[in-house]
Amino acid sequence: MIFNQKHIIKVFSNTGILVKHDPFANATKQVNDACDILGVTDKGIREYLSMPNKVLRVKIPVKMDDGKIRIFTGFRSQHNNDRGPYKGGIRYFNPEGGVEYMEREVMALSSWMTWKCAIVDIPLGGGKGGIYVNPKTEKISDDELERLTRGFAFKINEIIGPGKDIPAPDVYTTGKEMTQIMDTFNKLNGNISTPGVITGKPISMGGSLARNVATGLGAAYTVREAAKALKLNLKGATVVLQGFGNASTYAGIYLEKMGAKVIGVSDSKGSISIPKGAKTEDIISYKEKTGSVVGYPGSKKISTEELLTSKCDVLVPGALENQIDAKIAENLKCKIIAEAANGPTLPEADPIIYKKNILVIPDILANSGGVCISYLEWVQNNMGYYWSFEEVAEKMEKNITQGFKDAYALSKKHKVDMRKATMVLAVERVLEAFNQKGIWP
Ligand code: NAD
Repeated sequence: MIFNQKHIIKVFSNTGILVKHDPFANATKQVNDACDILGVTDKGIREYLSMPNKVLRVKIPVKMDDGKIRIFTGFRSQHNNDRGPYKGGIRYFNPEGGVEYMEREVMALSSWMTWKCAIVDIPLGGGKGGIYVNPKTEKISDDELERLTRGFAFKINEIIGPGKDIPAPDVYTTGKEMTQIMDTFNKLNGNISTPGVITGKPISMGGSLARNVATGLGAAYTVREAAKALKLNLKGATVVLQGFGNASTYAGIYLEKMGAKVIGVSDSKGSISIPKGAKTEDIISYKEKTGSVVGYPGSKKISTEELLTSKCDVLVPGALENQIDAKIAENLKCKIIAEAANGPTLPEADPIIYKKNILVIPDILANSGGVCISYLEWVQNNMGYYWSFEEVAEKMEKNITQGFKDAYALSKKHKVDMRKATMVLAVERVLEAFNQKGIWP
């Protein structure tokens, strides 16, 4: 079935307010838009590119600490593996729309992983999964969580593996859960050592150097390329970071190394402008001491809207989705937007931003440094030979800069914004692999 507007699921909260549209319908629309530009009219091919190859939904019984049995629901969506094994995170989360909504969400996220891997030209496909549970808000002990994680690994054992599907951490999962999944997989498969079954592992378990900085560093590389395209000198360029976590702080640190200056930041407690600029490392030290960026010496507290519409060269939305709506888009005063966060811009804002000649580096490219280094972790695991930080970073730089250049060239060729251009690039690459292989049986 080709999904279109008619198939959008509306998820209502218990107050009856519409909270979300179907993310999978959104992902499908993006594929269809790219097919329109590429002139792919065959409905079967469009459906092939949109729908996941497989969605596994599992029941995971867990013996809780009080002796009672609790049943959890888990998913693994395998979207496309024409270019290589499925790759994508496992999240522990309980979205507002319940388990049905979560299924649609992992389907959409697995589709985006297919395109993300294709843009940076790594030989992997798209997958995503998770368990409907929130370890942050529910009372669940470490032992219960381990039994749940190992139970989930048992249920997905047959469909994962270094040549099949390689999960990674995502929302509320860490290297600890990845190690437990790897260990369960190894035990279930004759006690083999298979570090390449999963990425995002701690270094001592076969993880890769540079993974911690990957997303921010990758975003900085894409900004550097965007600046070159716009003939904007990054020396002295001004940067605003929304969010002050892993993705945005490393973006700030590496943009500073390229000569830029951070003049505004925010976290969950508020936003600040720092007219004279400040070193990201200094703001990190301040936040470590006080718990927030708010109050940083020489700064002024501002609203989220003021932060996003600050006059600057580079805006890095690096915290949450749905931040830039049509109203904010009208008032933007930056030259480049690097979407370190997933989905920070609403679709209604895209044409406005394009008209204003602001260059958007869309999330599936700007934050793909993470998956690039996950790929390199898998390569190192498969070789049994490990690279230095510099070697890993250099390899990632090559993929991500080429991805930017290829997408930018397509945006000029088809006269479309970078969001559409990256999708066109990705769909074209997957289609090429599909056409090489054909359908069997
Ligand atoms: P994080 O938890 O390290 O940081 C999130 C930051 O956002 C925190 O500083 C928090 O204070 C801030 N924040 C929360 N609510 C806010 C609000 N209302 N206004 C402003 N700031 C707010 O998370 P992260 O890993 O940096 O991820 C951030 C985004 O980047 C997410 O969308 C994530 O999906 C995306 N991303 C991250 C990675 C990665 O490797 N870390 C990879 C791909 C995409």
